[in-house]
Amino acid sequence: MNYFYCDACHYCFEANTLPDRCPDCGAVTRNDKPAVRPASNNEIDELLRIRAEDND
Ligand SMILES: [Zn+2]
Repeated sequence: MNYFYCDACHYCFEANTLPDRCPDCGAVTRNDKPAVRPASNNEIDELLRIRAEDND
């Protein structure tokens, strides 16, 4: 499982492969670049932290 990040809506999510569009907002490109890119370590940490809080 890999982590990806949408620059259009700032949504971080898991997927097996890089999707061609954001599963949340549907963006394909943003500023002439792919909207969805591999997430940075900071973004993954943020996602996991938010999830951990949601489980409380
Ligand atoms: Zn999005």
